[in-house]
Amino acid sequence: MSNYEFSQSFAAQLDKDDELSHFRNMFHIPRQNDREVHYFTGNSLGLQPKAAKELVMEELDAWAELGVEGHFEGKRPWFHYHKFTKNMMARLVGALPSEVVVMNSLTVNLHLLLISFYQPDKTRYKIITEGGAFPSDQYALESQVRLHGLDPDEAIIELVPRVGEHTLRTEDILAAIDEHEKELALVLMGGVQYFTGQLFDMKTITAAGHAAGARVGFDLAHAAGNVVLQLHDWQVDFAVWCTYKYLNSGPGNLGGAYVHNRYANDPSLPRLAGWWGYNEQQRFMMKKGFVPMLGADGWQLSNVNVLSAAAIIASMEVFHKVDPRKLRRKSIQLTGYAEYLINEVIRQSGLQAEIITPADPEERGCQLSLAFGEKGRAVYEHLSAQGIIVDWREPYLAGEPGVIRLAPVPLYNTFTDVYQFGLKLAEAIAQAP
Ligand SMILES: *Cc1c(COP(=O)(O)O)cnc(C)c1O
Repeated sequence: MSNYEFSQSFAAQLDKDDELSHFRNMFHIPRQNDREVHYFTGNSLGLQPKAAKELVMEELDAWAELGVEGHFEGKRPWFHYHKFTKNMMARLVGALPSEVVVMNSLTVNLHLLLISFYQPDKTRYKIITEGGAFPSDQYALESQVRLHGLDPDEAIIELVPRVGEHTLRTEDILAAIDEHEKELALVLMGGVQYFTGQLFDMKTITAAGHAAGARVGFDLAHAAGNVVLQLHDWQVDFAVWCTYKYLNSGPGNLGGAYVHNRYANDPSLPRLAGWWGYNEQQRFMMKKGFVPMLGADGWQLSNVNVLSAAAIIASMEVFHKVDPRKLRRKSIQLTGYAEYLINEVIRQSGLQAEIITPADPEERGCQLSLAFGEKGRAVYEHLSAQGIIVDWREPYLAGEPGVIRLAPVPLYNTFTDVYQFGLKLAEAIAQAP
């Protein structure tokens, strides 16, 4: 039985008891008609930390005052700028600092690491991935396969849920790895699936991929800053993510990349190289012949986009102040409350709708995906007009329904936000044509 109640006073009490409630004050909350919205799209674009402006201004000032000398002078010399995000970012993904670097953007990083970790030959060339993966990942895989002169239809194995189910079972993922064992070169999946919100069992999948002789990588766009990650201990080979979703760094900001330290100094891995990946001590000697930095830093191509990275530091400083276990505990409670309210509303309205995100908190992050057999778009539009900011996604696989995605983010969402969502959802369903 649930301990939740569908009432404003109950939500207010949970907010009062919430020891992380003060983090909300560190963010700008968007407004609509002069009132703060109830923002549930942190899975798409996280909110702006109030400290971001100051950190970006510091670099604009350093540039104004120091010019090129800013590379080695000032509070945070630009030459070392990729190091200022490293420790906190490593903690967030469960990696060693040397295994992590902030650079480029997600899809670029995915390509760079696929160049290194997808090296098909005549016998091993297949890639296992989830069906309906985020389009950019699909295009990246497809084009990488073609780059090696292979046919995507043969090389890419897309896993889909069983008939009548919406998410993948771990046992089925493992069975597929087993089935393609001899030809398998790579397993590449989301950490948290962007459409369904399913959190994959990365540890088990990695172990199975390795047992089959394949490499294993994850796209953590929806996992970083959302769920607890242990990339190093899980032995994940490589991973990429963006920083503008749960990591609140601002639109289109730089991505993250992780490479396990067993590859820190592995000359057998091919890679595309650039000067910022070159051995730091000798970088400015401008010599011929690429000598990489150890670890993930060796995959850098270009010097750091400092104005962008400044905003990431602001975000990292917020995360630095919060205990990740407490954050996850609140996340589970907050999303559990949203789940309870949605199920109450569906039950009372008799509408054809269901949550397709796994019900087990261990199999999801903060996002819930609410699928509609009818009225989905109209409900979404009503919610938006009422200051409930969620998004609508058209079906991602043939035969699947469209969904409203909502992500109650424990750093800045309140139980009252979630209550308002439940209230307005009931209203939207009642009013939908
Ligand atoms: C958001 C997202 C991306 C975005 O890629 P960019 O290169 O940052 O534009 C890629 N993959 C997944 C799974 C995403 O959720």
